[in-house]
Amino acid sequence: MIITLKRTAEPQETERLIESVEKLGLEMHLISGANFNVYGIVGDTTILDEKQIYRFSCVQDVCRIAAPYKLANRVFHPDDSVINVGGIRVGGHEKIVVISGPCSVEEDESLLASAEAVKKAGADMLRGGAYKPRTSPYAFQGRGKDGLAVLHQAKEQFGMPVVTELMNMNKIQEFIDADVDMIQIGARNMQNFDLLKEVGKTKIPVLLKRGLSNTIEEWLMAAEYIMSEGNMNVILCERGIRTFEKYTRNTLDLSVIPIVKRRSHLPVIIDPSHATGDRQLVESMSLAAIAAGADGLIIEAHHCPENAWSDGAQTVTPEQLQQIIAKGKAIAHVIGRRM
Ligand code: PEP
Ligand code: MN
Repeated sequence: MIITLKRTAEPQETERLIESVEKLGLEMHLISGANFNVYGIVGDTTILDEKQIYRFSCVQDVCRIAAPYKLANRVFHPDDSVINVGGIRVGGHEKIVVISGPCSVEEDESLLASAEAVKKAGADMLRGGAYKPRTSPYAFQGRGKDGLAVLHQAKEQFGMPVVTELMNMNKIQEFIDADVDMIQIGARNMQNFDLLKEVGKTKIPVLLKRGLSNTIEEWLMAAEYIMSEGNMNVILCERGIRTFEKYTRNTLDLSVIPIVKRRSHLPVIIDPSHATGDRQLVESMSLAAIAAGADGLIIEAHHCPENAWSDGAQTVTPEQLQQIIAKGKAIAHVIGRRM
C-alpha cells in the first residue's frame, strides 16, 4: 500500500500516522520526493482499511497494491482449488459439473420424480430449496425440515450429492442431520457476515452466490469471511446482477469467470436460470459459460416445469437439460475440458 502525504503535512501528525500503522506490525518506508513524500507500507496489508487512513488529514492519497483478500487470493495459492462435494470434484481440470433440480423441494413424489429425471439427463448433483428466500412473505416459503428429509431420500435413492440453501444458522443442525453435501448461501445473504462466519466454522462445502448488486471484490471478500474461519471449501456462483435491463430477470455477467480465475483459485460456476429468468435463454447462456471457462452450471429443472411451485418460467424440462449437457460436452471438448 502506498500513502502519499500532502505538501502541508505537519511532522507531528505524520508521526501519529506512522505510529498507528506500525502498531499493527507493519513497516512504513519513506520515499522523499521533490514535491511529495510517499510511504510504502510493507507487511500484511489485508488488516488495513485504506479509507480509515484518510482520517489523518496529512494524507493526500492512499493506493492499495495487494488485494484486501488473502486466503481467496491466487497470489498465495497459485494452484486451482478443487472442492470435493460428496465425492464429486469441482474446479481445476476436473469435469465441468451440472447441479440441477427444482427451485423448491415440493411434495415427496414430485421431488423424487424431478431428481430421477435430472439424474437421467446427466446431472451430477441435485439441488432444491427446502428453505426459500422469497420476495413476498405470502409466497411459498419452502417445506423446511420435511424438505431436507426428502432431499436426503433422493440422495440415497439416486446416488447424487445434494445442495440446498441455508438462510439461518439455527437450522445448521438440520442440514448436518440430513447429510447435506453443499450449503448454498443465496444472493440475498452474500453479505450476511454472521452467517458467513458460522458456515466458515463447518467443513461443509459452501456454494456462495454473488449478491444482486455486489462487486467482484465484495464477493471475494465474502468468500474470505468463510475461509478466514477455517472452511476452505468455497465455490463461487454467478447468478446475474441487477441492472436497468427488463428483458431478463438479471444480467448475466460472464466476464466474472476469467476475472475471478485470474484473481482467485476458487472454482466458479454459473446459474443461467436466475440470471435470465427465462428457460429459452438457459441453453445459450450455459454454453457460453462453458466456453468462458466455468467449472460448472446450476440449472433449475423440473419433471413438469408448468407445475413448478416457484420459478417455473426459468425452469427447463429434463429433455432440455439433456440437450444442454450434450451440447455442453462438445464445447467442453473444444476448450480441453470434460463435462
Ligand atoms: C435459488 O437458487 O433458488 C435462489 C433463490 O437463488 P438466488 O439467491 O441466486 O436468488
Ligand atoms: Mn429459484
